[in-house]
Formats: sequence, structure tokens, C-alpha cells
Amino acid sequence: MAEKRDYYEVLGVERNATEEEIKKAYRKKAIQYHPDKNPGDKDAEEKFKEAAEAYDVLSNADKRARYDRYGHAGVSGSAAGGAGGFSMEDIFSQFGDIFGDAFGGAFSGFGFGGSRSSARRVPRGSDIRIRVKLPLKDIVHGVEKTVKINKMVQCHDCHGRGAVSEADIKTCPECNGTGMVTRVQKTILGAMQTTSPCPRCGGEGKLITNPCRKCSGSGLVKQAEEITFKIPAGVAEGMQLTIQGKGNAAKTGGVPGNLLVVIEEERDAELERDGNDLIYSLFISVADAINGCEAQIPSVDGMLKIKIEPGTQPGKTLRLRGKGIPDVNGYGTGDLLVVVQVWIPKRISKDEKALVEKLGASENFKAKPTQDEKSFFNRIRNMFK
Ligand SMILES: [Zn+2]
Ligand SMILES: [Zn+2]
Repeated sequence: MAEKRDYYEVLGVERNATEEEIKKAYRKKAIQYHPDKNPGDKDAEEKFKEAAEAYDVLSNADKRARYDRYGHAGVSGSAAGGAGGFSMEDIFSQFGDIFGDAFGGAFSGFGFGGSRSSARRVPRGSDIRIRVKLPLKDIVHGVEKTVKINKMVQCHDCHGRGAVSEADIKTCPECNGTGMVTRVQKTILGAMQTTSPCPRCGGEGKLITNPCRKCSGSGLVKQAEEITFKIPAGVAEGMQLTIQGKGNAAKTGGVPGNLLVVIEEERDAELERDGNDLIYSLFISVADAINGCEAQIPSVDGMLKIKIEPGTQPGKTLRLRGKGIPDVNGYGTGDLLVVVQVWIPKRISKDEKALVEKLGASENFKAKPTQDEKSFFNRIRNMFK
């Protein structure tokens, strides 16, 4: 596949273009390269698809932000970035409304978009949205999930046709099977042609004379189905994955909807997430802070041993590189931050009290932080403001 062009360049807009400008620019391109205006022109078809892909990303605030930050790689998980890109069917089902009054809508003064057969509305199954709760280890390593979903599938009795037999499906006489009806109206500007989906067949071009009893002619029945899909490493709360074609089915000749998987994070008992970094609060005793010690740190790959230097101040943060969460777009891996906390006992014995008093009176235990140490504590304090 050829190198992808910059999406802003494809639509011919500035990088700071508003939503409205992007929509306008896409509409212009889509009309210019529309297959009705360029029958059989492969180059125009490519440009038509390229514009749809650019619009898919730039019209979505979330995708646009990722594209601005990471380029094409930032949106590679979306339909637009997929290997095959968009099919013409996808474009019409997703962005059909953008053509508005130019194609198939209210006003068709261009001399196209009238009776072409491809204008027939392709039935599309609806999307199904589910939530999946993931523990930290699945977020770090990615996971394969199998879920059972009640969804619409094609009726077995009629094979999704909705009719008892093939002979029970008739061409709609209202639109002659095109799915569209055209009316000519007289206006002050002259005769205007208006085209809209056929009201009798709902734009499908066909009528069912003897509907299937099992599905009442819809061609669909509800059924539980197991679906297996992969969740990539590095996903975060609220992210949505699109599993193409795994949503509700459409009747024969239609395209199924998508399965949308919304990610929820399960709170980890020990590790807190901050972007792609993980934070662990390590509690050590006063004695260990003074003398230094070895400590065990829980990580997603099991326990890690680290060394605490003698004289470690509370709030000191140690960074274990690459022990965090992999970036979902493949931009490296976060770190594990160990924040050292010195634990002060609240209840002590008489003997301990005496020991601490003795310690407190000795020369090196009188509080006299250096300038460096003072600024270290000020930094910590400012972190929590
Ligand atoms: Zn049926
Ligand atoms: Zn019709």
C-alpha cells in the first residue's frame, strides 16, 4: 500500500480547522469524487475513499487528537487505519448523510443520484456495546476475551430473507426495485427533481408477500452467541474497541453492525495507574530509612527486589524503567514509580519511648535539613497542591 497522505492535506484544510470547516471540506471532496459523477474511474474511487478515511479521523475529537500527536500510527486501530481501509458500503452507511441535498436527498439538480441501483439502501445491523472489566495484568499484557452475547442473527427458517420462499419476495412496484422515488416539482427556478427513499419498501426495493412466521418477516431472530476477540496491551478506562461485523446481523444482502467493547479498569490493590506509569507506595520503618534495607516491590511480572539507600527521605521516588504499562499505540512502555513512605508507629512501649528519647537527644538526630533537603520537601509538597 502506498504511503498515506496527511489527512489535513487530503481534505485541504488547515491543522486548526474547525469541525464545520472539516465537514464542509469533506463534503466538497466527496461530491467531487462521488462514484455517480465518475463512473468506472478507479482514481476517483481511491480519492473518494481517502477523503472518507481522513474525515473519519478528523471529525472525531478523540481520533483527531491521537492523529495530531502520533500521526497515522495513532489511529491505526480504527476502521480507517485498517489494512483495507473503507469499503464503499461503509462510506455510504457511515457518512451518507453528509451528501445531504446533493445526493439522494431532497434536491438533485445535478443530473445524477436519481435512479441508480446502488442508491438502494443497504440494510445494516445495529451495533452492540458491551463493557469489559480488566485487571491490571490483562491491561499490561493484553488479553483474549470470549463473551456470550444475545444478538440478532439471521433467521434459520428463511435464511434471513424474511419471506417463506424466494418467490414470496417481489420487486417493489412503487420504485421498480430501485429503493428510491423521484418526483419533479415546479418551482420558481424551474423544474426540480427530488429523490428520496421509497416509502413503500423502506428503500430496500423489495416487498415480502408471504412473511416467514418465525421472524415475522424481519429475517432476524435473537440468539446467544460466543464471540472471541483480542484486547491489545495498554488500553485504558473508557477506551472503545470496534470489533467489525460482530454486532447485530442484517437481513440477507445487508451488512452486520459492529461490536463495541468499552474498557473498564479494575482497581489494583497495590499499584496505581498514572497514564502508562504505575505507582507503588513502599512503607519502610524509621530504622530502615536510616540504615537502608532491601525491599520487595510487587510488579506485573512478579516481585522485584530493590535497594533502599541509607538515609532515604520520605517521599523519595525510585523509577524502575519499563516496568509500567506498554503504550497502546506502541510508543514504548511506562515506568514503575516507587514512592518511599516512612512509617511512624503510633503506639510504643515505655522502653521504646526511652530509646527514642535517647536517640533524639544525640547529635545527628536533631532536625537540621540542608538547603537541598529543604527544596526536596518543598517539591514534594508542591506535587500535592
Ligand atoms: Zn425467518
Ligand atoms: Zn419501493
